[in-house]
Amino acid sequence: RFKMWQFFCGISVALLFVLHFWWKRRYESVDSDLGRCRHRIEVLQEEHENVVAQTVAQQEALFNSMLEGFLLLDAEGRVKTMNQSLQRLFTVHGDIRGKTIMEAFRLHGLQDLAERVSREGQVRGFELELPGFRSRYFEVSAVALFDLHDEPNGMLFTFHDLTRLKELENTRKEFVANVSHELRTPLTLIKGFVETLIDGAKDDPAVATRFLQTIQKHTDRLTFLIEDLLTISRLESGQITLNQQKLLLRPLVERVMDDLQSRAAEKDILLENRVNDEASANVDADRLQQVLFNLVDNSIKYGRLEGTVIVGAEPMADGFIKMWVKDDGPGIPPDATERVFERFYRVDRARSREQGGTGLGLSIVKHIVQSHGGEVWVESRLGEGATFYFTLPVEKIERFPLPVLQTA
Ligand code: ADP
Repeated sequence: RFKMWQFFCGISVALLFVLHFWWKRRYESVDSDLGRCRHRIEVLQEEHENVVAQTVAQQEALFNSMLEGFLLLDAEGRVKTMNQSLQRLFTVHGDIRGKTIMEAFRLHGLQDLAERVSREGQVRGFELELPGFRSRYFEVSAVALFDLHDEPNGMLFTFHDLTRLKELENTRKEFVANVSHELRTPLTLIKGFVETLIDGAKDDPAVATRFLQTIQKHTDRLTFLIEDLLTISRLESGQITLNQQKLLLRPLVERVMDDLQSRAAEKDILLENRVNDEASANVDADRLQQVLFNLVDNSIKYGRLEGTVIVGAEPMADGFIKMWVKDDGPGIPPDATERVFERFYRVDRARSREQGGTGLGLSIVKHIVQSHGGEVWVESRLGEGATFYFTLPVEKIERFPLPVLQTA
């Protein structure tokens, strides 16, 4: 019996050993499986984090590359995030996250919009003005956001910049108003004279002749105005293409002076061509003649009796040649030297009309010079005459884009 007991004890110990080693092996294999799983989880986690980081970066890049401004408010109406366009449009400096609309932008209009959105859920096409030296205009659309339990969870605003469109629209309106006014004035005068003639003035030959001459003057003005308007329209729409070629400048100036000689003689004005025989430029001959004609004609129109108008040219270092038209008339006040190139701007409206001016000559000059790649400006002192300068390329250069927006 003692031997049996010993035998069972021995078997049990052996079994315990086997069991121990079996559990140990099992434990080690489960542990290494667990380790592998943990490692896999870490790899997956890392991959997930990378994917999330990439998605966030892509969304941020998309968010920031959009021209529209975006603003996201949290459930308390505080700024959660905004894109770079909005920062630029509203010139936001510093971090405004966590601030209310009023704290961040000080715009009552935007605050009113936020209140409307919380009442109505969505607002589209809201026009917002950002007052300032140069007011800016935005079309804002806004939508309320909700969480999974349908609780309000903030708002998203989209800002579309309308400033340039508004400016173009204002320029167009101003231009149409100016053109209508310029057309109506001579027409009203013509109508008045015709009515007076019909009412009896025609029976007095001297009065009739005077009235008819006045009518002729105003119809001429209408014709010039329409011609100038068509030129501007053709220049701006790109219908006039420049036929540039290397040309000597002196003969061109001579031709313009011949055309204007009789007008200069009426005021005893001396026209002087000081352009060198060799001076040349790469230009469209017809367009350059138009520039010179407008400038010399202005110098005669606004110059003094028995004055002198000089046209000259001088090469510049940068491949351009500078031309000038100089008179010794009353000159242009300093605050008007930039504005005379605007459409319909005149220093003395009555004087311009009296001279048959359309108010478009210098804007045509500016357009033509710029389309050659040059610049135009005027230097003047009151009482000491005016000198109009413009530059032209000497050799062929790449075509310059025409300016689209002009102030009326
Ligand atoms: P306008 O048909 O009235 O002459 P322009 O565009 O040619 O129109 O010129 C604009 C204005 O610039 C003129 O009305 C005039 O007041 C001023 N101006 C232009 N040239 C001269 C000049 N040489 N001297 C003085 N004023 C000038």
